[in-house]
Amino acid sequence: MIYLDANASEPLRPAARAAALAALDAAGNPSSVHQAGRAARRILEDARERLGHSLKVRPQDIVFTSGATEANALAIHALGQGRPILVGATEHDAVRAAAPRAGQIPVTPDGLIDPDRLDALLADRQGALVCLMAANNETGVRHDIAAAAAICRAHGALLHVDAAQAAGRVPEDWLDLGAASFAISGHKAGGPLGAGALILRSAETLPLIRGGGQERGWRGGTPALPAIAGMAVAVGQPYDGEKIAGWRDEMAAFCLGLGGVLAGAGADRLPNTLCVAMPGLRADTQLIGLDLAGVAVSAGAACSSGKIAASHVLTAMGFGALASCAIRVSLPWNASAAMVPAFTRAYQAVMDRAAKTPKHEMFLT
Ligand code: PLP
Repeated sequence: MIYLDANASEPLRPAARAAALAALDAAGNPSSVHQAGRAARRILEDARERLGHSLKVRPQDIVFTSGATEANALAIHALGQGRPILVGATEHDAVRAAAPRAGQIPVTPDGLIDPDRLDALLADRQGALVCLMAANNETGVRHDIAAAAAICRAHGALLHVDAAQAAGRVPEDWLDLGAASFAISGHKAGGPLGAGALILRSAETLPLIRGGGQERGWRGGTPALPAIAGMAVAVGQPYDGEKIAGWRDEMAAFCLGLGGVLAGAGADRLPNTLCVAMPGLRADTQLIGLDLAGVAVSAGAACSSGKIAASHVLTAMGFGALASCAIRVSLPWNASAAMVPAFTRAYQAVMDRAAKTPKHEMFLT
């Protein structure tokens, strides 16, 4: 299996696995006062220290959650109280669903917000909460967070950043760039599934889930110690973005040579992500063909109840019918040069088969 779906979930880092396994053996609950509880608490606080060091934030500003979905929901709940909310048109559903009545910030054909539009939208919404992702999960397009934060500041608005795809891959300090908060996901950085974090400084404690007062009252519930310990190690692991981008670009050149259209071609993008639309060829046809050849990618479109729906990200970027013809190739942290010919061979085979198949079976009509 050639795994090219790292934006869905990165393969587990060996160091993160070791940390998670060690934490699995801790018998206690971090809230218990006896020795076993204190040992578990130490693992939790060591993880907080380590993550704070990697993300260049204060450990006390970290709230552990179950993932980026919960971290985004918590940020929007806490920071959005009494404020108008604006979200980027290409935000992940985790953000869109947490702010269903939010206004949208449109994007350019390259998937970037227009600073003048953000400025104009905020002029009517003083003191708003703005949600923007550091990097898009489908296209890899990276917003200019520092520029957006400056515009927000000028209007007394707060900026929340969904950094689920960026943390561990691009070395940024989002609080330093001017964000009020940011969300990360453990499994998107090579940690185990089931942990994430919200990083924020807030005078008030406004939990979404109440309960035992864990996480300084920010998040009730016994923390998932093994997943958290693994995440804290994973986020600080080395990431060779330059090498990965080189292989990604070779794959992109091959797809473009076949007539593909690259999403976000003119934008700064994550080093590992390639989103390409093949005119007329349905995304599910490509995905299944590649899967049969042992290559795992995903559709640049949401798959629900067996139907491929056009991606809201590509639709917002003006892809029209092409939005149903895009696949996302996302290279993992442990990518190798051998993945390039494996992908191009399999993709060529999909294209060859499509050329021989009656159009109504494989193509959009
Ligand atoms: N935000 C982005 C940009 C994502 O890509 C994802 C996962 O696909 C999430 C949030 C949700 O992350 P999690 O799986 O940790 O809840």
